Amino acid sequence: MGDMDLGFAEERGKEWLTNRYFPSKVGGKPAWLELEQLPTNRELLCVTCQEPKTFLCQIYAPFEDEHNFHRTIYIFVCRSTFCQDCNSAKNLTIYRSQLPRKNKFYSEKPPMEEGDPLPEINPSKKLCIACGCLGPLSCGRCRMVNYCSAKHQRAHWPHHKKVCMAENQGENKNTDIFLPCVTFPEWEIAVEVNDPSEETESDIDNESLEKKSLEEYQNLVAAGKTGTLKDVADFELDKYASESDTVDDKIFRKFKKVVNKDPDQILRYKRGGKPLWIADVEQSIAEQLQIPNCEICGSERQFEFQIMPQMLNLLKDDHLDWGTLAVYTCSKSCPLPIGKGYAFEYIVKQDLFLNENKK
Ligand SMILES: [Zn+2]
Ligand SMILES: [Zn+2]
Ligand SMILES: [Zn+2]
Ligand SMILES: [Zn+2]
Repeated sequence: MGDMDLGFAEERGKEWLTNRYFPSKVGGKPAWLELEQLPTNRELLCVTCQEPKTFLCQIYAPFEDEHNFHRTIYIFVCRSTFCQDCNSAKNLTIYRSQLPRKNKFYSEKPPMEEGDPLPEINPSKKLCIACGCLGPLSCGRCRMVNYCSAKHQRAHWPHHKKVCMAENQGENKNTDIFLPCVTFPEWEIAVEVNDPSEETESDIDNESLEKKSLEEYQNLVAAGKTGTLKDVADFELDKYASESDTVDDKIFRKFKKVVNKDPDQILRYKRGGKPLWIADVEQSIAEQLQIPNCEICGSERQFEFQIMPQMLNLLKDDHLDWGTLAVYTCSKSCPLPIGKGYAFEYIVKQDLFLNENKK
């Protein structure tokens, strides 16, 4: 390990997390990069329950290359409790969007992060006021607000009602309201470069610590204590469930050891690097690791970043769980064909537990 960049959650006013500032962030509404060819509502429906997926996070990850001067990766997830399958990413959708330096949406100069925040730059089409994805449906009464789906219109109605019923609609404005059933709480992801020189702690100390922890952990497992993966950052081994006797201890121990150096990390980024797995790959995700080549240019996909279980702590949603989400993108990060603003990429979901509770 060593030269892996780590991402941490930071509080930031949402006016600084709009597309104007090319953010990396968790939750809120997507800050769309390309503004004319947004993902369709159909693409964003969960294949299992047919409801719209929720925006999880976006990572701004440009590099020195004509086509990738701006580049953002987006992840969407279905939060329905019935759509969470162990070691399966079918409730997730991932997109890559990119723009050259000279483009029709943004100035070539980087935005100033001082003074009053600049307004976000709106797409050409109307967006759902609840979730920020394309909103082809409008309120049948006032026609002043748009929605992606009946579900989001229903969720927004208690707030929209007053505005919609008002005599003079100009006086009451539709405010941007946070609906916990539609969007996740919003956080900035601050990415810090991990300095390899800081990783020189005595491995002997670590190993003896680990051994002790493992013993405690095994005792707890024997005692049948249960819990969830969400507390992995705390190094509290008592949080691990009775099912954990199926976990490959060696891999899990390595995972904990690495994570423990920066226990709040929610993101590990290294394009072309290797993910840190939480359990044995052969037993859990061998099938998922048959990674298809880029559908656009035919190049191989490579690992780019992984989302850590610590992100779950920010989401305030007990239905969701994962060990880690590993994102694979086109190794060429190829230009998108005309008429396409967002290309699908590939994501792997690995859980701590094996498939026994698969639905
Ligand atoms: Zn679903
Ligand atoms: Zn919506
Ligand atoms: Zn209305
Ligand atoms: Zn490609």
